[in-house]
Amino acid sequence: MHLDLLTLVAMGSFVAACAGVVLLVAWSQNRKTLALLLWGLADIVTASGIASLMLASALQQPAWWRLGGSLLALAPGLMWKAARSFDAKPAPLVFALLGAAVVGLASSVAGIRVVGESLSLAFAAAYLLAAGTAFWLGRKERLRARWPIIVLTIVHAAVLLIGLFSNLVGSLGPGEIPAVKSLFGFIHFESIVFTLGTAVFILALIKERNEAASERTARTDPLTGIANRAAFMEDAARLVERCRRENAPVSVIMCDLDGFKSINDTHGHAIGDAVIQKFCGIATDALWPNDIFGRIGGEEFAMILPRASIEAAYVRAERIRAAFAESCCFIEGHQVDATVSCGLSASVNDEDTLSELLKHADFALYRAKADGRNRVKRADHPRPDGSEKTVIRVA
Ligand code: GH3
Ligand code: MG
Ligand code: MG
Repeated sequence: MHLDLLTLVAMGSFVAACAGVVLLVAWSQNRKTLALLLWGLADIVTASGIASLMLASALQQPAWWRLGGSLLALAPGLMWKAARSFDAKPAPLVFALLGAAVVGLASSVAGIRVVGESLSLAFAAAYLLAAGTAFWLGRKERLRARWPIIVLTIVHAAVLLIGLFSNLVGSLGPGEIPAVKSLFGFIHFESIVFTLGTAVFILALIKERNEAASERTARTDPLTGIANRAAFMEDAARLVERCRRENAPVSVIMCDLDGFKSINDTHGHAIGDAVIQKFCGIATDALWPNDIFGRIGGEEFAMILPRASIEAAYVRAERIRAAFAESCCFIEGHQVDATVSCGLSASVNDEDTLSELLKHADFALYRAKADGRNRVKRADHPRPDGSEKTVIRVA
């Protein structure tokens, strides 16, 4: 099969139009994602730009060259805006349009084709480098499809810069149609790979982000934003197992808000909700980055403290209890005098499982309640020295 350059260029336009339509359809089903709309439009603009250049070549009318050059500078501008909007970064439309405006103006004034083409290539490369950088800056959000897009975008920018260089040194004579195996042919071939590749990976990126968001929602308690019971149990089992393998201590704190039913009955459910949120804020502030915290019941919470002895866990639980009692006297003008009781347990040997640790902490919590609430108690583990000092009274 023989492929000539014109066919390759026409294919580039067709592929860009198809990719644009696919992205626009995806956007119509996912309207919150502006990046899909912008990248889809960019692909349609690319298709129109290539078609304009083909018309210019066929009709020998400079107006089509100018339009084609401007459109091919506009498309990467929209891609840059799409990349920025994907990570909710500002990208003024005027910057996205600047390249097209400059190319259109300069090629009209200068009237020389090479000026318009060179400017168009320069702006396109600059926008693509900026788009690749924008995707790279958002890398903290761990989405695998980000990396192929960055590579495709930077490679395309580099190829356009090579095209710019070749344009400036004038490797082609005026009116000459390059061969398909020339640099010109390579640029068009690479452009098709870029268009197809970015469309596929942008769709993959959006899918990955949506899936991550659904998973986060499924694991998060909507009232407090902390892990729900299922997520807590899953993460906690993994953490306890890791500590067991590393022969490191691990402690568990269970907390239950005191007399919460009467807070609801007296002040209303909304105030009860605010008390729960307040408790979560205080507990989160007292925890360390590797600790796990979850809402395991209505007004019941649990924490796993890796590498923490029971004494260290006691200090943390006591800090939470005291801070909560102090700052939760009044909520939104209601005197609630909310308090919390806590039960602690810790692994005393590497055979303790999560369910055993939770059971022991729960029993300690039960004793904290039985002894009058607003206190921290630790589980009755047999101590290596055989002493009976297993309960620390705090209130
Ligand atoms: P104790 O000191 O023994 O723990 O008494 P308590 O009243 O806190 O315990 P009880 O189990 O009798 O009541 C718990 C209450 O927590 C009952 C339930 O309506 C309330 N609750 C559970 N989830 C929520 C919630 O999301 N918001 C609000 N406002 N209340 C909740
Ligand atoms: Mg309870
Ligand atoms: Mg309670």
